[in-house]
Amino acid sequence: MRFSRTLIPTLKEIPSEAELISHQLMLRAGMIRKLAAGVYNFLPLGLKVIKKVEKIIREEMDRIGAQEVLLPGIQPAELWRETGRWDIYGKELLRFKDRHNRDFCLGPTHEEVITDLVRREVRSYRQLPLFLYQIQTKFRDEVRPRFGLMRCREFGMKDAYSFDADEKGAQESYQKFYQAYLKIFSRIGLQVKAVEADTGPIGGSLSHEFTVPADAGEDAIAHCLGCGYAANLEMVHCPVVSQAREAERDLEKVHTPGVKRVEEVASYLNVSPQNLVKTVLFKTEKGMFAALVRGDHEVNPLKLRKFQRAQEMELVEELAADQGEKLPLGYVGPVGLEVPIVADQALQSMGNFVTGANKADYHYLNVNVGRDFRPDAWADIRTAQPGDLCPRCSQRLNFVRGIEVGHCFYLGTKYSHSLRATFLDAQGKERDLLMGCYGIGIGRTVAAVIEQSHDDQGIIFPLALAPFQVIIVPLNCERKQVVEVAEKIYQELAGRDIEVLLDDRDERAGTKLKDADLLGIPLRVTVGEKSLRQGSVELRERASLEVRLVKAEDASREVLLWLENNSVSP
Ligand code: ATP
Ligand code: MG
Repeated sequence: MRFSRTLIPTLKEIPSEAELISHQLMLRAGMIRKLAAGVYNFLPLGLKVIKKVEKIIREEMDRIGAQEVLLPGIQPAELWRETGRWDIYGKELLRFKDRHNRDFCLGPTHEEVITDLVRREVRSYRQLPLFLYQIQTKFRDEVRPRFGLMRCREFGMKDAYSFDADEKGAQESYQKFYQAYLKIFSRIGLQVKAVEADTGPIGGSLSHEFTVPADAGEDAIAHCLGCGYAANLEMVHCPVVSQAREAERDLEKVHTPGVKRVEEVASYLNVSPQNLVKTVLFKTEKGMFAALVRGDHEVNPLKLRKFQRAQEMELVEELAADQGEKLPLGYVGPVGLEVPIVADQALQSMGNFVTGANKADYHYLNVNVGRDFRPDAWADIRTAQPGDLCPRCSQRLNFVRGIEVGHCFYLGTKYSHSLRATFLDAQGKERDLLMGCYGIGIGRTVAAVIEQSHDDQGIIFPLALAPFQVIIVPLNCERKQVVEVAEKIYQELAGRDIEVLLDDRDERAGTKLKDADLLGIPLRVTVGEKSLRQGSVELRERASLEVRLVKAEDASREVLLWLENNSVSP
């Protein structure tokens, strides 16, 4: 490919719309352009990289016996009503009506559609296990589309589904996908961690996220260096640490004017935040309740919502005037509280603590569970934090941030049951199919690669993903010999099916070299007058920045050799 004939609109400046390095570099390298919030055009370079990821995924899916299908983006509401998700998926689901006033949505995922297909076509245990996958566009009206391809409203996903006759088979299928995922990410050149995760609105009982450790990641992960345990932070179980409680002292109401936040109260009363109990009000479809956690702990909304078996749960940030008198926000506490209380287990070993007094500008000292109030329930409702111990082996946990690029869910009969997707077993008995589903975000994976692999000059593509393997840069296109040598190497490599970009633009040498670094092409062949005087051209590795001179006539052979030595075999 000749640079002068391509649409690779590189940018010198960092676009102000982009915070994240991967987003900045994809814009600067001319890979993508924004059309609307979370909606992107893929330019030739961007699309080439996307296709490389897709190719690796296809190969590994095919290898475990998954078959590719293509399901529609438009999905009828009836199917979503059958599983009940039409009502619970919320605003992320892009809904529309057709000309006959029938409800449809743009698919954010395809469990309903694939299960519908399989319930119609699969009859017998003899057809199982069955693995189907597709690479297709998904639509999700995200609350906060951002960070370029990381969180889009329209994005490419590989989604696969497994169908099995029994639990053992289904678990084996899950393992096959899990292993295939490790292979895919290793071939792509991404370091991922498989972490235990929540099953979210998709449901089911076993779930792993494949997460790329990166400071820019939106997910927090806890992992243990001792036993290898790794989980999404929101999932980490916080074991009860039992401690002896001191003798109870008398309850005392103290004046704390204008002092609301934990740190303020702690410093005003000269106690540690660990001696405080926070009372946080939440609302679900079933009504309001209070959650109690230790002052230095945070309520974990996911654990809490699950414990309450609520579909929707939100923080109470404002109250009607008459409610506000009884529940003065900032001063709410469990003593005499008229809403149900869920207390975090960590409170079991606390005594003589500080809480709000349900009266503006007042707190209680020396509150004790049992004597002063009784929670309606005890549960693990807090988020793990630095200092916490591993729930498996009790070593200290580590915390990192990460980008979720893939996800495996074991679904069991969640969808097959509601959609009545059954098969006949060997005894002729009708049973629900056992399912798993497995997603990889294509664009997010590319963004994660760049997040993990770049320097201050630009992208450093792993060879397996690079849009071009080699770039040839003739430094001065006015010199006949320079152009001829560059052209010859270009022809030789192109003739060997190497993806090679010839920078034949009439640009300054500095611009060309900068662009070559920005695009992250793994190997650069620089053809300049000075080295040509010795009959040489320069080979430079993008990743190591190592430079060596080779004879101009050997250049293409040297490039081929380098490519062979640096390719990761599938
Ligand atoms: P998140 O927690 O980041 O919203 P999710 O749990 O909703 O992700 P899944 O439904 O498991 O994601 O989707 C499978 C994969 O699709 C994810 O692992 C991720 O790589 C990708 N993905 C999900 N949402 C988006 C998005 N808005 N933009 C780009 N990729 C996405
Ligand atoms: Mg999501």
